[in-house]
Amino acid sequence: MKTEIKLYDTYEGKMRPFQPLRGNEVDIYYCGPTVYNYVHLGNFRPTITFDLLTRFLKEEGYDVKCVSNYTDIDDKIIRESQKEKKSEKELSLFYIKAYEECLEKLNVLPLYAHPKASEYIDKMVDFIADLEMEGYAYKGENDIYFAVSKIPEYGTLSKQRIEDLHAGKRIEVDSEKRDPLDFVLWKLTDDAGIKFDTKIGLGRPGWHTECVVMAHDVFKTSMIDIHGGGFDLKFPHHENEIAQSLAHDKTKLANFWMHVGFLLTGGVKMSKSLGNSILAKDVIARYGGNAVRLFFYQSHYRAPVNYTEENLEASKKMIDRYLLSDKRGKTFLALENIEEGELLEKEYQSFLLALSDDLNVANALTVVDSLVKETNQLLQKKDKERLPSVVSTLERLLSVLGFALPVVSLSEDDRKNYKEYQEARARKDYKRSDELRPLLMEKGLL
Ligand code: AMP
Ligand code: ZN
Repeated sequence: MKTEIKLYDTYEGKMRPFQPLRGNEVDIYYCGPTVYNYVHLGNFRPTITFDLLTRFLKEEGYDVKCVSNYTDIDDKIIRESQKEKKSEKELSLFYIKAYEECLEKLNVLPLYAHPKASEYIDKMVDFIADLEMEGYAYKGENDIYFAVSKIPEYGTLSKQRIEDLHAGKRIEVDSEKRDPLDFVLWKLTDDAGIKFDTKIGLGRPGWHTECVVMAHDVFKTSMIDIHGGGFDLKFPHHENEIAQSLAHDKTKLANFWMHVGFLLTGGVKMSKSLGNSILAKDVIARYGGNAVRLFFYQSHYRAPVNYTEENLEASKKMIDRYLLSDKRGKTFLALENIEEGELLEKEYQSFLLALSDDLNVANALTVVDSLVKETNQLLQKKDKERLPSVVSTLERLLSVLGFALPVVSLSEDDRKNYKEYQEARARKDYKRSDELRPLLMEKGLL
Protein backbone atom coordinates (compact mmCIF):
# COMPACT_ATOMS: atom_id res chain seq x y z
CA MET A 1 0.00 0.00 0.00
CA LYS A 2 1.24 3.49 -0.81
CA THR A 3 2.21 5.85 1.99
CA GLU A 4 0.04 8.94 2.40
CA ILE A 5 2.21 11.77 1.15
CA LYS A 6 2.02 15.38 2.29
CA LEU A 7 3.80 18.20 0.52
CA TYR A 8 3.91 21.91 1.26
CA ASP A 9 2.17 23.82 -1.51
CA THR A 10 3.26 27.45 -1.73
CA TYR A 11 0.18 28.39 -3.74
CA GLU A 12 -2.20 27.33 -0.95
CA GLY A 13 0.38 28.26 1.68
CA LYS A 14 -0.04 24.96 3.53
CA MET A 15 0.75 21.28 3.64
CA ARG A 16 -1.62 19.22 1.46
CA PRO A 17 -2.06 15.51 0.80
CA PHE A 18 -0.49 14.69 -2.53
CA GLN A 19 -2.34 12.73 -5.20
CA PRO A 20 -1.36 12.65 -8.88
CA LEU A 21 -3.81 14.31 -11.25
CA ARG A 22 -3.68 11.46 -13.77
CA GLY A 23 -3.62 7.90 -12.51
CA ASN A 24 -0.20 6.80 -11.44
CA GLU A 25 1.79 9.39 -13.39
CA VAL A 26 3.49 12.31 -11.65
CA ASP A 27 4.70 15.22 -13.78
CA ILE A 28 7.37 17.43 -12.20
CA TYR A 29 8.90 20.54 -13.78
CA TYR A 30 11.52 22.62 -12.02
CA CYS A 31 13.23 25.71 -13.39
CA GLY A 32 16.78 25.09 -14.42
CA PRO A 33 19.78 27.37 -14.86
CA THR A 34 20.44 30.23 -17.20
CA VAL A 35 23.49 28.85 -18.93
CA TYR A 36 25.92 31.73 -19.31
CA ASN A 37 28.64 30.66 -16.87
CA TYR A 38 29.52 27.88 -14.43
CA VAL A 39 26.64 27.54 -11.98
CA HIS A 40 27.15 28.03 -8.26
CA LEU A 41 26.41 25.45 -5.63
CA GLY A 42 23.01 26.99 -4.75
CA ASN A 43 21.72 26.22 -8.24
CA PHE A 44 21.94 22.53 -7.40
CA ARG A 45 19.74 22.74 -4.33
CA PRO A 46 16.51 22.55 -6.39
CA THR A 47 18.11 19.85 -8.55
CA ILE A 48 18.90 17.64 -5.58
CA THR A 49 15.56 18.32 -3.91
CA PHE A 50 13.53 17.35 -6.97
CA ASP A 51 15.78 14.38 -7.65
CA LEU A 52 15.05 13.17 -4.12
CA LEU A 53 11.33 13.76 -4.62
CA THR A 54 11.48 11.79 -7.89
CA ARG A 55 13.33 8.90 -6.28
CA PHE A 56 10.95 8.81 -3.33
CA LEU A 57 7.82 8.88 -5.53
CA LYS A 58 9.29 6.13 -7.72
CA GLU A 59 9.96 4.07 -4.62
CA GLU A 60 6.28 4.55 -3.77
CA GLY A 61 5.44 3.04 -7.15
CA TYR A 62 4.60 6.19 -9.14
CA ASP A 63 5.57 6.68 -12.73
CA VAL A 64 7.50 9.95 -12.37
CA LYS A 65 8.43 12.23 -15.23
CA CYS A 66 10.82 14.88 -14.01
CA VAL A 67 11.75 17.72 -16.33
CA SER A 68 14.00 20.73 -15.99
CA ASN A 69 14.84 23.34 -18.59
CA TYR A 70 17.85 25.27 -19.75
CA THR A 71 17.30 28.99 -20.22
CA ASP A 72 19.57 29.51 -23.22
CA ILE A 73 17.95 32.73 -24.46
CA ASP A 74 18.48 35.62 -22.13
CA ASP A 75 20.13 39.04 -22.13
CA LYS A 76 22.85 37.77 -19.78
CA ILE A 77 23.76 35.08 -22.32
CA ILE A 78 23.93 37.68 -25.09
CA ARG A 79 26.17 39.96 -23.02
CA GLU A 80 28.50 37.12 -22.07
CA SER A 81 28.71 35.69 -25.61
CA GLN A 82 29.64 39.13 -26.94
CA LYS A 83 32.33 39.38 -24.26
CA GLU A 84 33.70 35.93 -25.05
CA LYS A 85 33.28 36.50 -28.81
CA LYS A 86 31.22 33.33 -29.23
CA SER A 87 27.73 32.72 -30.54
CA GLU A 88 24.99 32.38 -27.90
CA LYS A 89 24.61 28.76 -28.92
CA GLU A 90 28.30 27.95 -28.53
CA LEU A 91 28.38 29.63 -25.15
CA SER A 92 25.26 27.96 -23.80
CA LEU A 93 26.24 24.50 -25.07
CA PHE A 94 29.58 24.82 -23.32
CA TYR A 95 27.95 25.60 -19.98
CA ILE A 96 25.23 22.99 -20.45
CA LYS A 97 27.96 20.38 -20.82
CA ALA A 98 29.64 21.63 -17.65
CA TYR A 99 26.27 21.51 -15.82
CA GLU A 100 25.63 17.96 -17.03
CA GLU A 101 29.01 16.80 -15.77
CA CYS A 102 27.94 17.99 -12.32
CA LEU A 103 24.58 16.21 -12.65
CA GLU A 104 26.42 12.98 -13.28
CA LYS A 105 28.76 13.44 -10.35
CA LEU A 106 25.81 14.20 -8.09
CA ASN A 107 24.17 10.96 -9.28
CA VAL A 108 21.03 12.78 -10.45
CA LEU A 109 18.61 10.46 -12.24
CA PRO A 110 18.30 11.08 -15.99
CA LEU A 111 15.48 13.55 -16.59
CA TYR A 112 12.46 12.74 -18.74
CA ALA A 113 13.36 15.79 -20.83
CA HIS A 114 15.78 18.68 -20.62
CA PRO A 115 14.24 21.26 -22.98
CA LYS A 116 16.10 24.33 -24.17
CA ALA A 117 14.21 27.58 -24.68
CA SER A 118 15.83 28.02 -28.11
CA GLU A 119 14.03 24.90 -29.36
CA TYR A 120 10.58 26.27 -28.52
CA ILE A 121 10.48 29.57 -30.37
CA ASP A 122 7.61 28.63 -32.72
CA LYS A 123 5.50 27.38 -29.84
CA MET A 124 6.20 30.52 -27.80
CA VAL A 125 5.24 32.69 -30.74
CA ASP A 126 1.92 30.84 -31.15
CA PHE A 127 1.28 31.10 -27.42
CA ILE A 128 1.91 34.86 -27.38
CA ALA A 129 -0.22 35.32 -30.50
CA ASP A 130 -3.08 33.50 -28.69
CA LEU A 131 -2.68 35.79 -25.68
CA GLU A 132 -2.82 38.85 -27.93
CA MET A 133 -5.91 37.58 -29.69
CA GLU A 134 -7.68 36.89 -26.38
CA GLY A 135 -6.87 40.41 -25.16
CA TYR A 136 -4.34 39.43 -22.48
CA ALA A 137 -1.36 40.88 -24.35
CA TYR A 138 -0.69 44.15 -26.11
CA LYS A 139 2.02 45.43 -28.37
CA GLY A 140 4.06 48.55 -27.67
CA GLU A 141 6.87 50.14 -29.61
CA ASN A 142 9.54 48.15 -27.78
CA ASP A 143 7.92 44.96 -26.57
CA ILE A 144 4.81 42.82 -26.36
CA TYR A 145 3.46 42.90 -22.81
CA PHE A 146 1.17 40.81 -20.66
CA ALA A 147 -1.70 42.78 -19.10
CA VAL A 148 -1.58 41.75 -15.46
CA SER A 149 -4.80 43.61 -14.59
CA LYS A 150 -6.76 40.95 -16.52
CA ILE A 151 -5.83 38.34 -13.89
CA PRO A 152 -7.64 38.94 -10.58
CA GLU A 153 -5.73 36.02 -8.96
CA TYR A 154 -2.37 37.75 -9.59
CA GLY A 155 -0.30 37.73 -6.38
CA THR A 156 -1.82 34.54 -4.92
CA LEU A 157 1.35 32.47 -5.14
CA SER A 158 3.63 35.08 -3.60
CA LYS A 159 0.92 36.20 -1.13
CA GLN A 160 0.97 39.81 -2.26
CA ARG A 161 -1.99 42.08 -2.85
CA ILE A 162 -2.13 43.86 -6.19
CA GLU A 163 -2.43 47.23 -4.38
CA ASP A 164 0.75 46.50 -2.41
CA LEU A 165 2.56 45.40 -5.55
CA HIS A 166 1.58 48.67 -7.17
CA ALA A 167 2.71 50.68 -4.16
CA GLY A 168 6.11 48.97 -4.18
CA LYS A 169 6.69 49.43 -7.89
CA ARG A 170 8.82 52.32 -9.04
CA ILE A 171 7.34 54.23 -11.95
CA GLU A 172 9.61 53.56 -14.87
CA VAL A 173 10.44 56.67 -16.83
CA ASP A 174 9.39 56.46 -20.50
CA SER A 175 7.62 53.17 -19.87
CA GLU A 176 5.05 52.28 -22.45
CA LYS A 177 3.47 49.70 -20.14
CA ARG A 178 -0.20 50.28 -19.39
CA ASP A 179 0.40 49.07 -15.85
CA PRO A 180 3.77 48.97 -14.06
CA LEU A 181 3.12 45.31 -13.14
CA ASP A 182 2.85 44.26 -16.80
CA PHE A 183 5.74 42.10 -17.98
CA VAL A 184 7.47 41.41 -21.28
CA LEU A 185 6.32 38.41 -23.31
CA TRP A 186 8.35 39.21 -26.41
CA LYS A 187 11.14 41.71 -26.70
CA LEU A 188 10.83 43.45 -30.09
CA THR A 189 14.36 44.17 -31.11
CA ASP A 190 16.80 44.49 -33.94
CA ASP A 191 19.85 44.52 -31.67
CA ALA A 192 22.96 42.40 -32.22
CA GLY A 193 21.73 39.62 -29.89
CA ILE A 194 19.99 36.40 -30.91
CA LYS A 195 16.59 37.18 -32.48
CA PHE A 196 13.90 35.54 -34.57
CA ASP A 197 11.84 36.92 -37.42
CA THR A 198 8.32 35.77 -36.57
CA LYS A 199 4.66 36.62 -37.16
CA ILE A 200 4.56 38.62 -33.90
CA GLY A 201 7.64 40.62 -34.88
CA LEU A 202 11.43 40.44 -34.89
CA GLY A 203 12.85 39.74 -31.47
CA ARG A 204 13.10 37.15 -28.72
CA PRO A 205 10.95 35.70 -25.92
CA GLY A 206 10.80 36.82 -22.31
CA TRP A 207 11.93 34.32 -19.66
CA HIS A 208 8.46 33.88 -18.08
CA THR A 209 6.99 32.69 -21.37
CA GLU A 210 9.80 30.22 -21.99
CA CYS A 211 9.01 28.08 -18.95
CA VAL A 212 5.22 28.03 -19.24
CA VAL A 213 5.38 26.98 -22.90
CA MET A 214 8.00 24.29 -22.31
CA ALA A 215 6.07 22.87 -19.34
CA HIS A 216 2.83 22.76 -21.38
CA ASP A 217 4.51 21.21 -24.37
CA VAL A 218 6.70 18.54 -22.79
CA PHE A 219 3.82 17.15 -20.74
CA LYS A 220 1.11 17.83 -23.35
CA THR A 221 -1.08 19.33 -20.65
CA SER A 222 -1.69 22.75 -19.15
CA MET A 223 -1.92 21.38 -15.60
CA ILE A 224 0.99 19.37 -14.27
CA ASP A 225 1.37 17.87 -10.81
CA ILE A 226 4.33 19.77 -9.40
CA HIS A 227 6.21 22.89 -10.47
CA GLY A 228 9.26 23.96 -8.52
CA GLY A 229 12.31 26.12 -8.21
CA GLY A 230 14.15 28.20 -5.66
CA PHE A 231 12.37 30.70 -3.37
CA ASP A 232 13.56 33.58 -5.55
CA LEU A 233 11.40 32.35 -8.41
CA LYS A 234 8.07 32.72 -6.57
CA PHE A 235 7.90 36.32 -7.65
CA PRO A 236 7.82 37.44 -10.36
CA HIS A 237 8.80 34.36 -12.42
CA HIS A 238 6.29 31.79 -11.18
CA GLU A 239 3.58 34.35 -10.55
CA ASN A 240 3.96 35.39 -14.18
CA GLU A 241 3.94 31.80 -15.41
CA ILE A 242 0.66 31.24 -13.55
CA ALA A 243 -0.83 34.45 -14.96
CA GLN A 244 -0.10 33.28 -18.52
CA SER A 245 -1.46 29.80 -17.90
CA LEU A 246 -4.65 31.25 -16.36
CA ALA A 247 -5.06 33.49 -19.39
CA HIS A 248 -4.29 30.82 -21.97
CA ASP A 249 -5.80 27.67 -20.41
CA LYS A 250 -7.67 28.70 -17.24
CA THR A 251 -5.28 26.64 -15.10
CA LYS A 252 -2.77 27.57 -12.42
CA LEU A 253 -0.26 25.43 -14.34
CA ALA A 254 0.55 23.10 -11.46
CA ASN A 255 -1.41 21.37 -8.73
CA PHE A 256 1.48 21.87 -6.30
CA TRP A 257 4.01 24.71 -6.26
CA MET A 258 7.16 23.83 -4.36
CA HIS A 259 9.96 26.22 -3.46
CA VAL A 260 13.40 25.42 -2.17
CA GLY A 261 15.20 27.58 0.42
CA PHE A 262 18.39 29.44 -0.33
CA LEU A 263 21.93 28.33 -0.03
CA LEU A 264 23.60 31.14 1.92
CA THR A 265 27.18 32.13 2.32
CA GLY A 266 28.02 34.28 5.31
CA GLY A 267 24.28 34.61 5.90
CA VAL A 268 23.61 36.05 2.42
CA LYS A 269 22.00 34.31 -0.57
CA MET A 270 24.58 32.79 -2.89
CA SER A 271 24.04 34.51 -6.19
CA LYS A 272 25.85 35.22 -9.42
CA SER A 273 24.88 38.86 -9.31
CA LEU A 274 26.14 39.37 -5.74
CA GLY A 275 29.53 37.97 -6.73
CA ASN A 276 29.64 35.56 -3.79
CA SER A 277 29.34 32.40 -5.87
CA ILE A 278 31.13 29.23 -4.97
CA LEU A 279 31.16 27.14 -8.09
CA ALA A 280 29.41 23.79 -7.89
CA LYS A 281 32.06 22.06 -9.97
CA ASP A 282 34.80 23.10 -7.54
CA VAL A 283 32.89 21.96 -4.47
CA ILE A 284 32.02 18.63 -6.11
CA ALA A 285 35.65 18.12 -7.17
CA ARG A 286 36.82 18.76 -3.62
CA TYR A 287 34.28 16.81 -1.56
CA GLY A 288 32.59 14.47 -4.05
CA GLY A 289 28.95 14.31 -5.17
CA ASN A 290 27.78 12.15 -2.24
CA ALA A 291 29.07 14.63 0.36
CA VAL A 292 27.42 17.57 -1.45
CA ARG A 293 24.12 15.70 -1.53
CA LEU A 294 24.34 14.91 2.17
CA PHE A 295 25.27 18.51 2.91
CA PHE A 296 21.94 19.63 1.41
CA TYR A 297 20.11 16.93 3.35
CA GLN A 298 21.31 18.40 6.64
CA SER A 299 18.50 21.01 6.48
CA HIS A 300 14.88 20.73 5.44
CA TYR A 301 14.57 21.73 1.80
CA ARG A 302 12.47 24.81 2.62
CA ALA A 303 14.88 26.12 5.26
CA PRO A 304 17.95 28.14 4.37
CA VAL A 305 21.29 26.34 4.57
CA ASN A 306 24.67 27.93 5.13
CA TYR A 307 27.70 27.02 3.05
CA THR A 308 30.80 26.55 5.16
CA GLU A 309 33.80 24.33 4.63
CA GLU A 310 33.20 22.83 8.08
CA ASN A 311 29.67 21.81 7.09
CA LEU A 312 30.97 20.14 3.97
CA GLU A 313 33.81 18.42 5.82
CA ALA A 314 31.29 17.09 8.34
CA SER A 315 29.05 15.80 5.53
CA LYS A 316 32.01 14.14 3.88
CA LYS A 317 32.95 12.36 7.11
CA MET A 318 29.39 11.24 7.64
CA ILE A 319 28.85 9.86 4.13
CA ASP A 320 32.23 8.11 4.19
CA ARG A 321 31.18 6.38 7.40
CA TYR A 322 27.84 5.31 5.89
CA LEU A 323 29.37 4.00 2.70
CA LEU A 324 32.24 2.23 4.43
CA SER A 325 29.78 0.36 6.56
CA ASP A 326 27.67 -0.52 3.49
CA LYS A 327 30.77 -1.72 1.66
CA ARG A 328 32.10 -3.77 4.56
CA GLY A 329 28.70 -5.38 5.05
CA LYS A 330 28.39 -6.27 1.37
CA THR A 331 31.94 -7.58 1.22
CA PHE A 332 31.47 -9.82 4.23
CA LEU A 333 28.26 -11.27 2.80
CA ALA A 334 29.85 -11.82 -0.61
CA LEU A 335 32.87 -13.56 0.93
CA GLU A 336 30.58 -15.78 2.95
CA ASN A 337 28.45 -16.45 -0.14
CA ILE A 338 25.35 -15.19 1.66
CA GLU A 339 22.42 -14.08 -0.50
CA GLU A 340 20.67 -10.71 -0.17
CA GLY A 341 18.39 -10.39 2.85
CA GLU A 342 14.73 -9.41 3.07
CA LEU A 343 13.92 -5.73 3.69
CA LEU A 344 13.36 -4.88 7.33
CA GLU A 345 9.76 -3.76 7.16
CA LYS A 346 9.70 -1.59 10.29
CA GLU A 347 12.81 0.41 9.33
CA TYR A 348 11.80 0.67 5.68
CA GLN A 349 8.33 1.97 6.56
CA SER A 350 9.58 4.54 9.05
CA PHE A 351 12.05 5.80 6.46
CA LEU A 352 9.28 6.21 3.86
CA LEU A 353 7.01 7.79 6.45
CA ALA A 354 9.66 10.43 7.18
CA LEU A 355 10.02 11.30 3.49
CA SER A 356 6.25 11.33 3.02
CA ASP A 357 6.14 14.22 5.51
CA ASP A 358 7.20 16.92 3.03
CA LEU A 359 10.58 15.21 2.52
CA ASN A 360 11.70 15.17 6.11
CA VAL A 361 15.19 13.89 5.32
CA ALA A 362 16.54 14.55 8.82
CA ASN A 363 14.15 11.91 10.22
CA ALA A 364 14.86 9.56 7.31
CA LEU A 365 18.57 9.84 8.09
CA THR A 366 18.06 8.72 11.70
CA VAL A 367 16.86 5.37 10.30
CA VAL A 368 19.95 5.18 8.08
CA ASP A 369 22.17 6.07 11.00
CA SER A 370 20.81 3.31 13.19
CA LEU A 371 21.23 0.75 10.37
CA VAL A 372 24.85 1.85 9.93
CA LYS A 373 25.49 1.34 13.65
CA GLU A 374 23.79 -2.04 13.60
CA THR A 375 25.80 -3.15 10.53
CA ASN A 376 29.04 -2.31 12.34
CA GLN A 377 27.96 -4.18 15.47
CA LEU A 378 26.85 -7.24 13.52
CA LEU A 379 30.09 -7.26 11.53
CA GLN A 380 32.07 -7.32 14.74
CA LYS A 381 30.10 -10.33 15.90
CA LYS A 382 30.41 -11.91 12.41
CA ASP A 383 26.64 -12.34 12.53
CA LYS A 384 25.17 -14.11 9.53
CA GLU A 385 21.50 -14.17 10.55
CA ARG A 386 20.36 -10.55 10.70
CA LEU A 387 23.20 -8.90 8.81
CA PRO A 388 21.88 -9.76 5.29
CA SER A 389 18.60 -7.93 6.00
CA VAL A 390 20.28 -4.98 7.67
CA VAL A 391 22.68 -4.54 4.77
CA SER A 392 19.96 -4.91 2.10
CA THR A 393 17.78 -2.35 3.88
CA LEU A 394 20.66 0.07 4.34
CA GLU A 395 21.58 -0.28 0.67
CA ARG A 396 17.98 0.38 -0.40
CA LEU A 397 17.58 3.47 1.78
CA LEU A 398 20.89 4.95 0.64
CA SER A 399 19.90 4.51 -2.98
CA VAL A 400 16.47 6.16 -2.43
CA LEU A 401 18.45 9.09 -1.03
CA GLY A 402 20.40 9.14 -4.29
CA PHE A 403 23.88 8.26 -3.08
CA ALA A 404 26.21 6.55 -5.52
CA LEU A 405 27.01 3.29 -3.74
CA PRO A 406 30.30 1.40 -3.66
CA VAL A 407 30.45 -1.67 -5.85
CA VAL A 408 31.94 -4.77 -4.35
CA SER A 409 33.67 -7.03 -6.82
CA LEU A 410 35.77 -9.90 -5.59
CA SER A 411 38.33 -11.76 -7.64
CA GLU A 412 38.89 -15.50 -7.39
CA ASP A 413 42.15 -14.76 -5.54
CA ASP A 414 40.31 -12.61 -2.99
CA ARG A 415 37.90 -15.42 -2.25
CA LYS A 416 40.70 -17.99 -2.07
CA ASN A 417 42.80 -15.89 0.31
CA TYR A 418 39.83 -15.13 2.52
CA LYS A 419 38.88 -18.81 2.72
CA GLU A 420 42.44 -19.77 3.53
CA TYR A 421 42.61 -17.07 6.21
CA GLN A 422 39.45 -18.37 7.88
CA GLU A 423 40.71 -21.95 7.74
CA ALA A 424 44.12 -21.00 9.14
CA ARG A 425 42.44 -19.24 12.08
CA ALA A 426 40.13 -22.19 12.68
CA ARG A 427 43.10 -24.54 13.01
CA LYS A 428 44.95 -21.92 15.09
CA ASP A 429 47.68 -21.54 12.43
CA TYR A 430 48.31 -17.91 13.37
CA LYS A 431 51.52 -17.73 11.40
CA ARG A 432 49.61 -18.27 8.16
CA SER A 433 46.66 -16.07 9.14
CA ASP A 434 49.08 -13.26 10.08
CA GLU A 435 50.65 -13.55 6.64
CA LEU A 436 47.30 -13.27 4.92
CA ARG A 437 45.81 -10.51 7.07
CA PRO A 438 47.68 -7.49 5.59
CA LEU A 439 46.85 -8.70 2.09
CA LEU A 440 43.16 -8.92 2.90
CA MET A 441 43.14 -5.66 4.82
CA GLU A 442 44.76 -3.82 1.97
CA LYS A 443 41.88 -4.88 -0.25
CA GLY A 444 39.35 -3.84 2.37
CA LEU A 445 38.23 -7.42 2.92
CA LEU A 446 38.76 -7.43 6.66
P1 AMP B 1 19.06 30.88 -12.19
O1 AMP B 1 20.09 30.36 -13.16
O2 AMP B 1 19.55 32.01 -11.35
O3 AMP B 1 17.74 31.17 -12.86
O4 AMP B 1 18.76 29.73 -11.12
C1 AMP B 1 18.46 28.38 -11.42
C2 AMP B 1 17.80 27.72 -10.23
O5 AMP B 1 18.63 27.81 -9.06
C3 AMP B 1 16.48 28.38 -9.84
O6 AMP B 1 15.56 27.37 -9.47
C4 AMP B 1 16.85 29.26 -8.67
O7 AMP B 1 15.75 29.49 -7.83
C5 AMP B 1 17.89 28.40 -7.97
N1 AMP B 1 18.80 29.17 -7.12
C6 AMP B 1 19.57 30.23 -7.49
N2 AMP B 1 20.29 30.67 -6.43
C7 AMP B 1 20.01 29.85 -5.37
C8 AMP B 1 20.45 29.76 -4.00
N3 AMP B 1 21.36 30.59 -3.52
N4 AMP B 1 19.93 28.79 -3.24
C9 AMP B 1 19.02 27.92 -3.72
N5 AMP B 1 18.56 27.95 -5.00
C10 AMP B 1 19.04 28.90 -5.82
ZN1 ZN C 1 11.15 28.83 -15.04
